Parts: sequence; C-alpha cells; structure tokens
Amino acid sequence: MKFVVYEDEKNASDTKIHVADCSYYINRKRNAKSTKWYGPYDTYNSARKTAKKIAKDKSSPFRNSKDPKCCKLLSKTKRGKVRESA
Ligand SMILES: [Zn+2]
Repeated sequence: MKFVVYEDEKNASDTKIHVADCSYYINRKRNAKSTKWYGPYDTYNSARKTAKKIAKDKSSPFRNSKDPKCCKLLSKTKRGKVRESA
C-alpha cells in the first residue's frame, strides 16, 4: 500500500494523507494551480513526515482523510496510526 499527501495552497482545507489508490488522487487535476499532491510514498510514516512538514511550514493542521468516498482505511485509524499490509 502506498500513501499520498494533499496540500491546498490556498488553505481552503487541511493538509491530508490519502492512500494512493484513492479516487481523489487517481482523478486529480494534474494542472491544478492551488492544490498539490506529494508522493506516492511506500510507507505511511514517509507520507506523514511530509504532511507534518507542510503543516508546520503553513502553521495549519494535517490529518488523515476522513472522506467516506475515498480512504476508508485511513478513516478507521486512530492517532494517525495505520496498519500497513504488505
Ligand atoms: Zn482519499
């Protein structure tokens, strides 16, 4: 499983961690001007590190995506911990 990080450069929403097979990531607008995707990362911790850095630079929060339409796996995690299946 791979993970990606979403950044909204206009701060319209928090920085979020998604799984790489999430439809939001797959159907992302590649030429979007105010949103950025980072990754995919091989581990959740790598994605988390990136999200944390972005959030720190912007002084804004980051979290796992909880959107029921996408990363159901991440929505079930607690405190940013996720079971990583190989
Ligand atoms: Zn997602």
